[in-house]
Amino acid sequence: MNHTAPSHQSTDLKQPFSCLPLRATLLDNLSSLGYKTMTPIQAQSLPMMLKGEDVIAKAKTGSGKTAAFGLSILNQLNVENFAAQALILCPTRELAEQVSQAVRCLARLVPNVKILNLSGGVPMKLQLDSLRHDAHIIVGTPGRVQKHLNKATLSLNQLQTLVLDEADRMLDMGFFDDIKTIVSACPIRRQTLLFSATYPPEIKNLGKQFMQRPKEVLIETPHTEYDIEQYFYRVNSQADKFSLLKMLLLHYKAVSTLIFCNTKQQTTDLSKLLCDAKFSSLALNGDMEQIERDQVIIRFANQSCSILVATDVAARGLDIKELPAVINYDLAFEHDVHIHRIGRTGRAGHKGLALSLTTPADAERICVIEKNLSYPLTWRKNDELTSGAPIFYPEMVTVCLDAGRKDKIRPGDILGALIKDAKLPSEAIGKIDITALYSYVAIHRSQSDKAYRYLQNGRLKGRKVNARKLR
Ligand code: ADP
Ligand code: MG
Repeated sequence: MNHTAPSHQSTDLKQPFSCLPLRATLLDNLSSLGYKTMTPIQAQSLPMMLKGEDVIAKAKTGSGKTAAFGLSILNQLNVENFAAQALILCPTRELAEQVSQAVRCLARLVPNVKILNLSGGVPMKLQLDSLRHDAHIIVGTPGRVQKHLNKATLSLNQLQTLVLDEADRMLDMGFFDDIKTIVSACPIRRQTLLFSATYPPEIKNLGKQFMQRPKEVLIETPHTEYDIEQYFYRVNSQADKFSLLKMLLLHYKAVSTLIFCNTKQQTTDLSKLLCDAKFSSLALNGDMEQIERDQVIIRFANQSCSILVATDVAARGLDIKELPAVINYDLAFEHDVHIHRIGRTGRAGHKGLALSLTTPADAERICVIEKNLSYPLTWRKNDELTSGAPIFYPEMVTVCLDAGRKDKIRPGDILGALIKDAKLPSEAIGKIDITALYSYVAIHRSQSDKAYRYLQNGRLKGRKVNARKLR
C-alpha cells in the first residue's frame, strides 16, 4: 500500500460546495439545507472521493463526515440500476438510523433513490420484503448485514462503494471479523472509504487490508475543541446582554462560572448587578488589594461563590482545576485570547462549557473564531433557555479565621477542630486555604452554622480565634 503524505487542515479558506463537480440536484439541495461552505474534512476528502479514490478520513465528531461520504455516494449513483451500489457500515443501530436519515436528506432532490436500513433489532422478515425491491444504498450494522449475506437475501455483486463509518468504534466493538466477511462478499474493484474520529494503528491496519492505495485526510483537533461545548448566543445590543446572562446562568446551573469582561470597571459593575439579582458573584480585577484578590480567588475556587467576573489580566493567575463553565460576556478582541479563555474549562478530562454573548457589532470577531474551528459554530436560541428557574446558592460557605501561617496553623488543625471537637461530618468540610494571616475553610451550607458557632467560641491550637463568614 502506498500512503500519500497526509494532507493537513487549512482553515483560512472556506470553500463552497459549488467548487466540486457535483450534480446540480445535489448542489441545489445543499443550499436548501443551509450548508453554505464545506467543513475541512469535506473540503479535503470530497475531491478525492469523487474521483473514485479510496480515502481514510479522520476528523472529530460533528465535523460533517456523513455528508462527505453521502455526497460522494449520491454523486456516483446510477438510479437506473436497481442494485446495492453502496454499503455503509455503522457500529450501532442508532448511528445507522442517523446516517440513513442524513443520506435521505442529502438525496431529497434526487428522484427514486432507495435507501435501506439493515440493522439489528428489527425482524429479518420485514427487511426481506424491502430487499425484494432492490435498494441503491444500504446502511447497516455489521452483524445484521452479515446475516443477510449468509442467507443470500442481500447481494453485493454490484457494489461500487463500501463505507466503514465510525471505524474506530466498530473495531472497539469487536466487528473486525464481521467486516472481513462482508468485504469478502464485495467486488474486488470497488471504492472503500473509511471514516473515523481517531486514528489508532488498528485503523491503519484496517486500511492496509481492505483498501487500495488509500489517501489519508487527517484533520487535527486543537486541544480546546476536544472537551468543550462551545455555544454562541445573539442579542440585539449590549443593553440586552444582562437579561440573557441571567437566563444562561439559571439554565446551565454550573457550580462555578467564570465570566469575562473586557474592562475592569465592567467586572465591578456586572458583579454588582448579579449580586443585586441575588446571584452569588464576585469581581476580580487588577485594581484590588492583594488580600482582597486572595479572598476572592479562594472563595471562587472552594465553591462558596459560584460566579467570578474577571478581566483577562486578572484571570491569568487563576489556577482552578475543574472549571465547569466560562462565559464571554464580551468577546475577546483577539482570537488567541478567546481560545485561552475557553481553554480554562474542559480540563483534565472534564467536559467544559463555553458560552459567548454576541451582538451584531461582533460579526468580524465571530468570523475569525469560526475560521479557526474545524466545524461550524453552534448558535443557540435564547428562547430555548429555561426561564423562571429559581436562583441557586453555592453549596459551600467560607469561614475565615484570623490565624494563619504566622500562627503555625496547618490544615490538620482546622480539620481536627471541626471533626473531633465540633463533630462535623468530614464530607461537610471542603477546601482549606491558609495564607500568612488568615485561614479559610469551606463548609457545606447545611453545616456552616454549626461550624461557625463552634469556631467562634472554640479554640484552634489552644488559642481563641476570631471567625467570620465571608459573604
Ligand atoms: P460526524 O459524522 O463528523 O460526527 P455529522 O456528519 O453527523 O458529523 O455532522 C454534524 C452536523 O453538521 C450535522 O448536523 C450536519 O447536518 C452538519 N453539517 C455537515 N456538513 C455541514 C456543512 N457543510 N455546513 C453546515 N452544517 C453541516
Ligand atoms: Mg459520523
